[in-house]
Amino acid sequence: MSTATPTGDSARPSPPPYRGRFAPSPSGPLHFGSLVAAVGSYLDARAHGGQWLLRIEDVDQPRTVAGAADEILRTLEGFGFAWDGEVLVQSRRLDLYHAALVRLQLADEVYPCACSRAEIAAHSPRRSIDGGLVYPGTCREGLAGGRAARAWRLRVPDQVIAFDDRIQGDVQQNLEAAVGDFILLRADGQYAYQLAVVVDDAAQGITAVVRGVDLLDSTPRQIWLQQGLALSTPTYAHLPVVTNDAGEKLSKQTHAAAVDLSAGSAVLAAALRFLGHAVPQEISAGPLRDFWPWAIAAWSIARVPARRGVCPG
Ligand code: GLU
Repeated sequence: MSTATPTGDSARPSPPPYRGRFAPSPSGPLHFGSLVAAVGSYLDARAHGGQWLLRIEDVDQPRTVAGAADEILRTLEGFGFAWDGEVLVQSRRLDLYHAALVRLQLADEVYPCACSRAEIAAHSPRRSIDGGLVYPGTCREGLAGGRAARAWRLRVPDQVIAFDDRIQGDVQQNLEAAVGDFILLRADGQYAYQLAVVVDDAAQGITAVVRGVDLLDSTPRQIWLQQGLALSTPTYAHLPVVTNDAGEKLSKQTHAAAVDLSAGSAVLAAALRFLGHAVPQEISAGPLRDFWPWAIAAWSIARVPARRGVCPG
């Protein structure tokens, strides 16, 4: 009699249940661009029968506006979004980011860096993929005598990180060429978004990230960091972002207006149209309670345009 473990479908581990999230930064009220990310991530989660979690990304304290987080939550609730579990707030989780950094320090994956912005600029004429400067590796082998650590950087390999984005397709990036060793703890004592987002996506058990395409270029950094911390990598889908007539992403910096809650289904329908879905008039003019079941049934990520920026006109 064979004692071998059974093979075939019955022995295959089932994939983890879908857990998505929306992670706004409270640097101002919810504007149409963030509403699009909320709608896309919510519908994708609910269409998969999955959970949808919320996280307030206020790790960057200088950019946080008092009262904005509560206002965002009130707006989401007013539009009828229903989230699962507790809302995670990054500013209350600094101990966890510290623990992750210590883990990387013990593994010698990170190093202290003494360079100021001006010193980096003096060394490196190369522009990084996100408009900054590629770090030239000055402090990689240790601080020069008399220099004090300002920040902590993660070593990156001269290697292509690739992933298959559910909307944008195959994405490849050589981290050394695109950004260089990047910062996890800033000179001003703030943990970097890249570290916080990776720790929190893992802590919330996120299996599917759906967010704006402005973060596409950050994803290889996050995948590399997940590998360094032995965390699993979720799937990624990057939605087009809303731009103004000048082609700039809607944000507080470009003075994007807060979404108008009283517009109800009409503004949710506009977000869904932006994501490539035709919405019938009776749904966009109808009550919120009719919008959501219709939208969840209609959602198909294949309809979302694989473009970076779209001006809704
Ligand atoms: N907090 C980021 C933002 O509001 C989103 C980060 C993410 O989804 O990974 O743009």
